[in-house]
Amino acid sequence: MPIQPKPYKVKCEKCGHTTIVRPRSDCLDPRDLTKQICPTCKLVMPRVPMNIFDKLTTIFYK
Ligand SMILES: [Zn+2]
Repeated sequence: MPIQPKPYKVKCEKCGHTTIVRPRSDCLDPRDLTKQICPTCKLVMPRVPMNIFDKLTTIFYK
């Protein structure tokens, strides 16, 4: 039984763009990495803590 990886939030430090990344598996997936790059600034967005609204989003949008 594989462990379901937890989604996490990333935020661009330059423009403030945020997105929720939902890892498909425990393995490192290049598609997950591309989601961490800001579409505007082309910078890697560091992880930030999720607030309650983000957690609700991950529940409703699976
Ligand atoms: Zn940005």
